[in-house]
Amino acid sequence: MTRTEIVDVAIVGAGAAGLSAGLVLTRAQARVAMIDGGAPRNAPAAEIHGFISRDGVAPQDFLRIGCQEVVGYGGSLVSDSVREVFRRADGAFDLRLGNGMTVAARAVLIATGLTDQLPSVPGLQDRWGILVHHCPYCHGYEVRDQNIAVIAGGAKDVSMRQAGLLRRYTDRVSLLTNDLELTRAERQRLEAFGIVIVDGAVSHLLGAPGTLDGVEMTDGTTVTCEAAFVAPRPQPNDRLLRALGCEVDATSGLVIADAFGQTSVAGVWAAGNVVTPVAQVITAAGAGSASAMAINGWLLQLDLDAATATRR
Ligand SMILES: Cc1cc2nc3c(=O)[nH]c(=O)nc-3n(C[C@H](O)[C@H](O)[C@H](O)COP(=O)(O)OP(=O)(O)OC[C@H]3O[C@@H](n4cnc5c(N)ncnc54)[C@H](O)[C@@H]3O)c2cc1C
Repeated sequence: MTRTEIVDVAIVGAGAAGLSAGLVLTRAQARVAMIDGGAPRNAPAAEIHGFISRDGVAPQDFLRIGCQEVVGYGGSLVSDSVREVFRRADGAFDLRLGNGMTVAARAVLIATGLTDQLPSVPGLQDRWGILVHHCPYCHGYEVRDQNIAVIAGGAKDVSMRQAGLLRRYTDRVSLLTNDLELTRAERQRLEAFGIVIVDGAVSHLLGAPGTLDGVEMTDGTTVTCEAAFVAPRPQPNDRLLRALGCEVDATSGLVIADAFGQTSVAGVWAAGNVVTPVAQVITAAGAGSASAMAINGWLLQLDLDAATATRR
C-alpha cells in the first residue's frame, strides 16, 4: 500500500473482530489495511478459553497467527493508533494515524474493543487477568475448587451472577458486598446456595507480587482466597464512531450497529466489544466475519453502480 493508494477497507483494531474481518475480506480479494494500537483487551491473560479448537491458546499467539493469515492473503498491517477518521468529498474516508500517515479507504470497520475500568482497590490492577478475573466462562474452570472472593461493585446483578455461577466450580465462594445493598431476599437466596456473604468495604488485596492470599476489609478482617472476581465497568473505545456521527442508543449508551455491524453512517461498520461489550473472543470474531461479508456486498453494489454508469 502506498500513501496515495486507496484501499477497499480500513480496519481499525486487529483483535479477534478486526482480524476475522480481515481474513474474510482479503480472501474475497478486497484491498485491506489494518491499523492496530497493540493493546488487546485480554492481553494480561495467559490463555484464551472457550474458543473451540483454540482453547488454551495464549492471546499473543492467537493474534500473531491471525495477523500472519491476513497478511498472507495480501492485507497490510500498520502498528499505530488511528487518531481521526474524516469523510472525504468523494464519500471515501481518510484515517489519520499517530505517525502522521493517512490511510484512505472506501469503507471503514471500527473494531477497537473496550477498556475495562477496574474498581480502585490497591493490589487489584497488577493481578488483573492473572489472579483477578471477571468472567466465569473464561477462567472459572481454571480456579475450580479454590477459595474465591467475589468483590462486589458496579452492577449488582453482575456481582450476584458471578457469585452464583462460581459456586458451580467450588463450595468456597465469598461475596464481599463492598457496601453493595443486598435485599433480605437476595441475601437468603445466595446463602441458601452456599455463598458466604461478607459485609463491609474492601481495603486491599493480600499477598506477595504474583500471588493472592486474600482480601483485607477496612475493618481489619481478612477473607482468604486464591482467586478473586470483580465486575469492571466496560468503556467501549467508540470515540471514532461517535466523531463520525454514528447514532447512539439512548438506553444502553452504545453505538448502534445492526446484526452485520452496519452503523447509521453509510460506509462505517463496527464489530466486537466496541459495540457489543459482552462479546467473547469467538463471538467478536463471528461479528467481524459477518461485517466483512456485509462490507464486501456493499462495495460490490458501489462497483456495479459505477460500472453501469460508465457504460451508459
Ligand atoms: C483479562 C481478560 C481475559 C479474557 N479472557 C477471555 C477468554 O478466555 N475467552 C474469551 O472468549 N474472552 C475473553 N476475554 C474477552 C476478550 O478479551 C474479548 O472478547 C475480545 O478481546 C474482543 O475482541 P475485539 O476484537 O472486539 O477487541 P480487542 O481484542 O480488545 O481488540 C481491539 C484492538 O483495537 C485496538 N485499538 C483500539 N483503539 C484503536 C485505535 N484508535 N487505533 C488503532 N487500534 C486501536 C487495540 O489496540 C486492540 O488491539 C477476556 C477479557 C479480559 C479483560
